[in-house]
Amino acid sequence: MTTTVQTYDRKPLTPPGGHKKVLLHSCCAPCSGEVMEAMLASGIDYTIFFYNPNIHPEREYLLRKDENVRFAEQHGVPFVDADYDKDNWFARAKGMEWEPERGIRCTMCFDMRFERTALHAHEHGFPVMTSSLGISRWKNMAQINDCGQRAAGRYDGLSYWDFNWRKGGGAARMIEISKREEFYQQEYCGCVYSLRDTNQHRRSQGREPIELGTKFYGRDEEQGGG
Ligand code: SF4
Repeated sequence: MTTTVQTYDRKPLTPPGGHKKVLLHSCCAPCSGEVMEAMLASGIDYTIFFYNPNIHPEREYLLRKDENVRFAEQHGVPFVDADYDKDNWFARAKGMEWEPERGIRCTMCFDMRFERTALHAHEHGFPVMTSSLGISRWKNMAQINDCGQRAAGRYDGLSYWDFNWRKGGGAARMIEISKREEFYQQEYCGCVYSLRDTNQHRRSQGREPIELGTKFYGRDEEQGGG
């Protein structure tokens, strides 16, 4: 791994069991930027696992993934590009189309992503898995941790690291890094239903609907939702 890490005042991190090898499920570059740099600063040997079949449409999926690939390459971090099996995601979301964000559709969505992450960890000798999902202020961390622990619990010797990436200045560094890198700034959680609901909310406030691929951190004032 290269060591082009910005110097920040962070406490050293210790994954569960004192392990140094971690599989990081990443949802996007803005959320994983701080998580990645914090783990590098602690000498943790990690691989990114990008499995997010929830993201719709495909153009948005590619925008988010490509940004994450670029940042991983910049830091010399291995990146596993998993399937975009969106048909399976839609099949699992059936009947939950009108559920609110943070509800049961989101539990299904986290479960699905973490189940695949846990399988990869199990098959490739990672004793610890974690995720960048919880760093976003838009997410329910307890819900994410529950899903992560459930998925890791399927395999002996695999733990879910429920570290709170927001604390100790993590949330602020997440924004700083996103601005420094001018990351693509998504304006909705990811699925077609969150896009619909966010646009509905914007319309109710007299705002224009989301235009994909147009906002970047550091170039615009408003902070979007991931
Ligand atoms: S709102 Fe976000 S977490 Fe919930 S189902 Fe949609 S993409 Fe998944």
